[in-house]
Amino acid sequence: MHGICCVESVLNMTDDKKKQYSPFNDACQNILMRHPEAIGVAYKVLNCGCALICGATAGGDPIGKLRHISGQPVKSGRRAPICLKCRLDGGLDRVVWEGIYWPGPQSEWPEKNLRIKIGRKIFGLGYMEPD
Ligand SMILES: [Zn+2]
Repeated sequence: MHGICCVESVLNMTDDKKKQYSPFNDACQNILMRHPEAIGVAYKVLNCGCALICGATAGGDPIGKLRHISGQPVKSGRRAPICLKCRLDGGLDRVVWEGIYWPGPQSEWPEKNLRIKIGRKIFGLGYMEPD
């Protein structure tokens, strides 16, 4: 599973203390704020380091538009850089990892069964959670 290290670099959301700007984290928070009915954010990580994300309801329905998050390095306050690969093909054929971002600490997440159920509805029966 070569996707995992890639996911960690894209997600980069455990470093709250450092106040490091993470476009992925930021975009997830934004979706959750705009769509109160979204309980998580479904994402697909692409082989260029970008991610495609969209909100997910408790019933496993996607919500809102699919958003593209550039994996190129960003500085706070600057515009997100454009990924040329994604600009050419949109990225949907280059997915290396997919999963769901759940906000808050793990103790506040939905139960694992529900998480898997939502994931399978969105991504298909092959959906698994990383250990
Ligand atoms: Zn890209």
